[in-house]
Amino acid sequence: MGDKRVAKILVVEDNALNIKLFCDLLAAHGHEPLPITDSREALEAARGFSPDLVITDIQLPYVTGIELMELLRADESLKSVPIMAVTAYSAAGDDERIRAAGAQAYVSKPISVMRFAETVEQLLDAGRVREDEQVDPGSNPG
Ligand code: MN
Repeated sequence: MGDKRVAKILVVEDNALNIKLFCDLLAAHGHEPLPITDSREALEAARGFSPDLVITDIQLPYVTGIELMELLRADESLKSVPIMAVTAYSAAGDDERIRAAGAQAYVSKPISVMRFAETVEQLLDAGRVREDEQVDPGSNPG
């Protein structure tokens, strides 16, 4: 669980300052972020990048964060990638709506740097556990 493999993280956020902050934070934790500011490019970018985690803003022009999560969940190669949503507004019902669209977690903006980093690592750890469970124990002689 303390595995610190480099993770590929797709970051979709239309605000230039926020996306720089998120990507700088991820890089500081040893990860490889791919910033996408135009949400219309996000699905194709995800297909090419094969991320270990997707972080998406909810309030995006063109394709909203909710729509993007639905697209990812409908894509055969991306449907099991964990998603962390980031949202500036947290109204009643947002939590359920965001989780129903496919996010495992969300953090509110302005972000707490510590909570952001902790949530990223929790989702990456959970993803690694799922990968390990998919390994056929019979195929491992060790
Ligand atoms: Mn936004």
